[in-house]
Amino acid sequence: MSVVKKVLGLLGSEISYTLSPLMHNTAAEALGLNYCYNVFDVHSPDDLPAAVEGIRALGIMGVNVTIPYKERVVKYLDSLSAEASEVQAVNTIVNQDGHLIGHNTDIYGFSEPLKAFMSELEKENIAILGSGGAARAAIQALKNEFKPASIFIVARNEAKSKSLKEDFKRRNKSLKLKTLNIADPEAIETMRDCKLIVNATPVGSAKPSARKEDLIPAEKLWTKNHIAYDLVYNPLQTPFLKGAKEAGAKTISGLEMLVYQGAKSFELWTGKQMPIELIRNTLLKALETTL
Ligand code: NAP
Repeated sequence: MSVVKKVLGLLGSEISYTLSPLMHNTAAEALGLNYCYNVFDVHSPDDLPAAVEGIRALGIMGVNVTIPYKERVVKYLDSLSAEASEVQAVNTIVNQDGHLIGHNTDIYGFSEPLKAFMSELEKENIAILGSGGAARAAIQALKNEFKPASIFIVARNEAKSKSLKEDFKRRNKSLKLKTLNIADPEAIETMRDCKLIVNATPVGSAKPSARKEDLIPAEKLWTKNHIAYDLVYNPLQTPFLKGAKEAGAKTISGLEMLVYQGAKSFELWTGKQMPIELIRNTLLKALETTL
């Protein structure tokens, strides 16, 4: 094997906690592929255009994009896949001979772990906490593959959630999408009646600046009928999932989405299938030892 490795990486801010290098480097090594995945911490949004230009200038094969740049990065790319264009959020960039193509594998990553609950979700209400890039991917996935009655965007920034709603409504007139302010008591009432609640905020995550306590006190929110899906994967046991589990609800860890979105990105860069079981076990072990 050549000693010169093809470079992949992750663009984001405050991302020292990420498991993506472990995931992609383990997969590349297991398949004998000549890739190495690094962390590119872009501290200031002002540096994002230069960072993207650096992908081209340095011949980096591809990167993932994470919080807080998934939406902001769109305007610096040469083209977008149909899905990335629809949600206007990118989590994967492929460098094809200097042409930077934006993809969104979060949509696939979000859907895969939820498919086991497909029949339970049909014609049920769903709530999504947050109105950023992950919320966009979740709404797109729910629209594509599940048949919810209504989707509620529950977030703190009303202007942002309304603009998110309008973006989707423009393209999908029949989609029943509503917004609620997270501070509004009606939001809790509505969420108690939802079958699925998704946490698409960094609250509860290991990210140093993230709020650590629940957005909504567990005792006011969860019932045994709920399905709780936390997109946060580090720590494995978030306050959101702990509260849901204690109430008898079903839970899905963000680790599952991490594995599937990563597998899709890996395939886009290398053309190979990621060894899913090996990667899940490797990541679980890593998370369990940091608890
Ligand atoms: P983002 O675009 O920055 O959006 C974050 C959202 O969370 C925004 O709506 C933000 O509100 C809201 N928020 C942040 N702190 C909050 C707080 N204390 N109270 C209420 N709302 C708060 O980030 P993202 O890319 O959507 O990612 C969101 C989370 O999902 C991150 O933890 C990320 O790691 C995780 N994620 C996981 C996977 C996976 O594979 N498991 C994939 C994608 C994302 P404002 O707009 O008001 O700031």
